[in-house]
Amino acid sequence: MENREIAAVFEEIANVIRILQDDPKWQFKAVAYERAKRSIESYPERLEDIARDPNRKLTEVPGVGADLAGKIKELIETGKCQYLEERLQKIPRSLLDLLQLQSVGPQKVRLFYQKLNIQNLDDLEAAARANKLRELPGMSAKSEENILKALEALRKASGRFRLDVADKAAEELSSHIREFPGVEQVTPAGSLRRGRDTIGDLDLLVTGRQLEKLPDHLLKFPRLSQVLAKGADKVSFKLANSMQVDVRILAPESYGAALMYFTGSKEHNVALRERAKKRGWKLSEYGLYEGDRVIAGRTEEDVYQKLGLPWIPPELRENTGEIEAAEAGQLPALVELSDIRGDLQMHTSASDGHNSVEEMAAAAKRLGYRYILITDHSKAVTIANGLDEKRALENIARIRAARKKVKGIEIWAGAEVDILGDGSLDYPDDVLRQFDIVVASVHSRMTQPGEEMTKRLIKGLRNPYVRILGHPTGRYVLRRDPFQFDLDAVFNEAKKLGVILEVNASPERLDLCDRHVKLVRDRGMKVIISTDAHRPEHLAFMRYGVLTARRGWMDKQHVLNTYPPEKLLAELRPLPS
Ligand SMILES: [Zn+2]
Repeated sequence: MENREIAAVFEEIANVIRILQDDPKWQFKAVAYERAKRSIESYPERLEDIARDPNRKLTEVPGVGADLAGKIKELIETGKCQYLEERLQKIPRSLLDLLQLQSVGPQKVRLFYQKLNIQNLDDLEAAARANKLRELPGMSAKSEENILKALEALRKASGRFRLDVADKAAEELSSHIREFPGVEQVTPAGSLRRGRDTIGDLDLLVTGRQLEKLPDHLLKFPRLSQVLAKGADKVSFKLANSMQVDVRILAPESYGAALMYFTGSKEHNVALRERAKKRGWKLSEYGLYEGDRVIAGRTEEDVYQKLGLPWIPPELRENTGEIEAAEAGQLPALVELSDIRGDLQMHTSASDGHNSVEEMAAAAKRLGYRYILITDHSKAVTIANGLDEKRALENIARIRAARKKVKGIEIWAGAEVDILGDGSLDYPDDVLRQFDIVVASVHSRMTQPGEEMTKRLIKGLRNPYVRILGHPTGRYVLRRDPFQFDLDAVFNEAKKLGVILEVNASPERLDLCDRHVKLVRDRGMKVIISTDAHRPEHLAFMRYGVLTARRGWMDKQHVLNTYPPEKLLAELRPLPS
């Protein structure tokens, strides 16, 4: 059992406790499960390995005491948790589906169930349409409307997975496939290869020799839950998380054509087929044909070249101008992960991160970075242990001390300072001026009407110490839509003031998203790609941010953290003297 699966069970227990509230210590218990959940999902080792080691104890995991350790053991051994099963007897299981909705927590679920006997998503929708929700305490016509919107978003999102979830599944499957003798190439195609923020089905293409028995080997993948189809050249199945996987076993001579075909997008492929047709040819997943004769297909480059085009990076293949740009020799030289020189948003144990400044710096050095910016939260974000003025100043001293100790990398003292509801910043200017670089972000009152949010963001940007706007639209992939605000007005103000917009690389956020990166690029503005890491491992999220920037047509000149440190600092908005 993987850590995230154990964490998911603990989250469910906490939610059920909060819905039932039938235990005198329910609040205390729910908090304990939530704390353990967070600690387990980011624990660097597999709990199952620790549990199986007679010399180790699960209680070494922060937040896990004897009672929870017992539950983890039970889960690993039986796949079940008796305590949760018993509690689940008391409510309809479908009630928990409501928690997938944006802005619906266990308290509201309890309210809906108790007052209106709402048992599932359909009941909830019916009640919202009948305007019954607005009569409940703490609810209004507006919150009713928000629930209907969230229901719609959920229906749209179902069956899709976050980029990192698909990426990890693809990696695990690829290494399983490579164990089979004779396998030469394993390549993920589809929207994963194009770097989209969400992925539906996972497509994997395999070439090699004597792969007749590969389908049998494939079905031995441990996390497989259901076989959908098994043929000599295609195997489809579902994973435990219900993600559908299609593995295609290909002949080497059609590999390039198949890779193009299964990478998509559909729109890009349609445009290419048209292009082939105009030349009297036919393009399919098996190759580019003149009559019955294959004229290209072994590599993607061959096929593009025959069609009179340079190879087009998968991230651009959306038929939004990339074919025209390719034809005119004007494809951008997209930013690469290897261009990145530093990371300008990360948290330490001073706020809600898990590691020291030195540990984050050491991890950044291992990636070959030349600089990092430490950005712990400001005090408004109490849930993330945000720092008040006094602790912020202590943190600056701690960062400066680390900077003296760790050689070979610049460590800048920053903060992720909240833009409060009225647009003012969470620290006064005399504190803000102590930081090397201030990132400003919104973490509260996210459902403000568009006009208010626009004013709030613009006022935040106008504070002269703000140099970067963190996760500018506030969206969470598959979970929360962007704030409503006037994008043009805010982007224009940022451009005028010289505030840089962040591309937050955390796969939960990817904010700015690809479309918004493109808008920024079209304005000639630059961005910074930051991971918002809370642990050293999170620095690897940079890859997802780079993919998102590439989908937004960004070249390295427009990504400031590809610059050497002095040049980066010179590009930031000048501080008031
Ligand atoms: Zn943030």
